[in-house]
Amino acid sequence: MGRRHRCRRSLTMTGIPTTWYNIIPDLPEPIAPDQPAPGGGGGLNPQIPTGLVRQELSRASEIAIPAEVLEHYRAFRPTPLRRAERLEREVGGGARIYYKYEGGNVSGSHKLNSALAQAYYYKQAGAKRLVTATGAGQWGTALAAACRAFGLECHVYMVGNSYRAKPYRRVVMEMLGATVVPSPTPDTAAGHEALAADPATGGSLAIAMAEALEDARRDSGSRFATGSGESYSLLHQTVIGLEAQEQIAAFGETPDVVVASLGAGSNFGGLAGPFLRDRLRGGEGPRCIAVEPDACPKLTRGVYRYDYTDSSRSTPLQKMYTLGHAFSPAAIHAGGLRYHGTAKIVSSLYSTGTIESVAYGQNEVLASGLRFARAEGIIPAPESAHAVHAAIVEARKAADAGTEPVILLCLSGHGQYDLAAYDAHLQGTLEDSGLSEEELALSLSSLPEQPEVAVRVH
Ligand SMILES: *Cc1c(COP(=O)(O)O)cnc(C)c1O
Repeated sequence: MGRRHRCRRSLTMTGIPTTWYNIIPDLPEPIAPDQPAPGGGGGLNPQIPTGLVRQELSRASEIAIPAEVLEHYRAFRPTPLRRAERLEREVGGGARIYYKYEGGNVSGSHKLNSALAQAYYYKQAGAKRLVTATGAGQWGTALAAACRAFGLECHVYMVGNSYRAKPYRRVVMEMLGATVVPSPTPDTAAGHEALAADPATGGSLAIAMAEALEDARRDSGSRFATGSGESYSLLHQTVIGLEAQEQIAAFGETPDVVVASLGAGSNFGGLAGPFLRDRLRGGEGPRCIAVEPDACPKLTRGVYRYDYTDSSRSTPLQKMYTLGHAFSPAAIHAGGLRYHGTAKIVSSLYSTGTIESVAYGQNEVLASGLRFARAEGIIPAPESAHAVHAAIVEARKAADAGTEPVILLCLSGHGQYDLAAYDAHLQGTLEDSGLSEEELALSLSSLPEQPEVAVRVH
């Protein structure tokens, strides 16, 4: 007990940080300001409550976590940080592998860390009901749990194909009191239009988002809650890295390599951010690696340009690494990593060479997920299996080089509802789709004309 007292000021007795770490003031290059979309939509989305807008614009390094949010964090935080000793032995060499496990809450992933904070600020702003869109269902499940926690109604437009093919997250959302409908629905103009064009359509996240936005705009008590792409989501996820810093120090270790999967960037930024703080301030720090699927390689193969954050083009433009808002990734099982863009903070870190990225195919990734499940007894979500795979690759490289690094990975969620992916992998029917040069070029041709941006003098 109490072996380490470092940074006590920012921890409660139970080891939960009481502040989030805002990395923005420490970035080596300021984030490029958002720009109004050509022909409409400008400024910050009017649906976002001021509590979150203030966080997006804050230049304070530490932002207090509201007591009401902390109280709900206490139900599942601090989350465990464990050493994967059996996996280490199996991989061989001298690397020590630690994982931070975020799957042990009712939503099954790290997304609840931000959903709780978002629901809190929406409630502060007077919302009675939150509306959102979800693909495979992780974000919808997290928001449903957060709405339950704060006494808000929750209505979820779930991509029709997933609604039918993956019923279990829908059931969890309903258990938590949310209403879930398969998108497109005939109840909104956007859904009506999509159904008129193709009555048999399985839907898409773009249509589901358009429906959710339209629904939320219809009545004054409702607000649209975005997923994990905004800077405030990454801020909320820094509880992962802040806890991990304390925990790994209690093992007497300092990580040499930090790895996490990259969807929009919040679990990667949330884990890596606090570990980068010293380095950004001129000190030492680990290598940080963002891991993407080779079917959606925005950092490894995308461009750093202004783009829409959604394919319905209803948002302001953000400067980020993107594959183009019209990008339609192959139907890989890691649904949470199929987003075309990258959080602005992660984009800035990558463009300045502060972080690294790698991309892998889903068979090698799921093989590593399977190895982790057998060795450590937790089935990783296909998204999280990307981080596991990268950690194993790093451990093997170190074994060949004769070094013994400490590797820390984010096990962002469990894969209990993703067994179809592991089944296909075991049956040998899982496809590695990758992304051809032609597909990439076609998608990049959808980028909007780049706005003229005044260079900020500082
Ligand atoms: C959504 C999701 C991700 C990716 O999202 P980020 O915004 O990049 O964090 C990773 N893992 C799991 C389990 C997810 O549900």
